[in-house]
Amino acid sequence: MLVQSSLSEVLKARSELFSRTNWTDPTSQLQNRVKGEDLSKYFVLTESEEIGIRETIRLHVSTTPYYLSLSDPIDPNCPIRRMIVPRSEEAVFSSEESPDPLDEERLSPVRGLTHMYPNRVLLFSNHSCSVYCRHCMRGRKVSSSDERMEKSDLENAFAYIRTHEEIEDVVISGGDPLNLSDSRLEWILSELHSIPHVKICRLGTRNPVTLPFRITEALCKIIETYNDDKLSIFCNTQFNHPKECTKESKEAILRLLKVGVSVGNQSVLLKGINDEEEVMLTLHKKLLEMRVRAYYLYDPELIPGSRGFRTPLARGIEIVEYMRGKIGGMGIPQFVNDLPGGGGKITIAPNWYLGYYPKTRQHAFRSAVTKKIHLSFEPVGSNKESYYPTISDSEWEKFGL
Ligand SMILES: *Cc1c(COP(=O)(O)O)cnc(C)c1O
Ligand code: SF4
Repeated sequence: MLVQSSLSEVLKARSELFSRTNWTDPTSQLQNRVKGEDLSKYFVLTESEEIGIRETIRLHVSTTPYYLSLSDPIDPNCPIRRMIVPRSEEAVFSSEESPDPLDEERLSPVRGLTHMYPNRVLLFSNHSCSVYCRHCMRGRKVSSSDERMEKSDLENAFAYIRTHEEIEDVVISGGDPLNLSDSRLEWILSELHSIPHVKICRLGTRNPVTLPFRITEALCKIIETYNDDKLSIFCNTQFNHPKECTKESKEAILRLLKVGVSVGNQSVLLKGINDEEEVMLTLHKKLLEMRVRAYYLYDPELIPGSRGFRTPLARGIEIVEYMRGKIGGMGIPQFVNDLPGGGGKITIAPNWYLGYYPKTRQHAFRSAVTKKIHLSFEPVGSNKESYYPTISDSEWEKFGL
């Protein structure tokens, strides 16, 4: 039964939860996670959220007290709240959506491994996370105990990687690999480290955002042991909103940087949460202050209920276009679409290049700073003139140069 809580009940429940959690202890944070319909105790719910909680197939909602503390108990438009609490739109599934839009299962040679690109694989290390995000593209798997990866499953995955010498880069994702125990993670890293052709290992984790206390000194020591001349360990995390850039998060990132792990951010473009130019610019400025470089900005996948957070494709392009010139290049993500049906990722960039005018051998560009047209010449004797989209005489005249 979904309870309707008043504001005073919500505030009281929050303060009880926060005081019984041993705040900086990750185990205590995980033990005190708020799950499923219990969310209704910590928010004054709107009707849409009530429907969302009652009717979405994925009732594996869960949040750490820490992440909950960043959310607003009253304002339904709070971006953190919107990443935790489902709404009625998410209970609507359409035929264009699929639980596995990227065909990860078809591209999986052994359980838990997706081998789509020749030299790199995605390893599904475990099904648990600290917070279950509404927009998770692997929602079919995360939080489901049927998807538990046994030691033998991982051993089969390592055996596959070992016999495929073309694999140089292993992306460990899930779920969230940092929700494994230290000893299990150490075993995974030592196995990968022992495979001669594996040069790069990436930890895909939201814990710096959702449970920064998980980045303990002990964990960092383990990572440091395997981050050496043989293997380079990277971390890709997912900050989606400036509100997530806290002092605790920054401390977690700095601990990773100290053991030589470069941290990048892959945010997801989410309707009503971060689909505004200024929000994305502020997020990436804050990330740079935390020494996190921008990597990708994902267009959300067509998972069931995704109409609740998908934006028109143009939004991502416009946002990246807006950012250019206002922040250093290392703070500008590449806008990425992971193509349905297992086509892999492609990047979509703003159209700064307008084309080539053969008569004068000139390329025309639109400047991100002046917004005007600027010209540059193709080298004399170039054999690539047919490569470029041609500007016609009438278009050229319209430039009014
Ligand atoms: C995203 C992804 C990767 C890594 O892609 P990069 O563009 O190198 O970050 C690898 N394998 C699969 C299946 C993926 O979905
Ligand atoms: S932390 Fe990552 S894998 Fe886990 S629910 Fe969120 S987006 Fe999905």
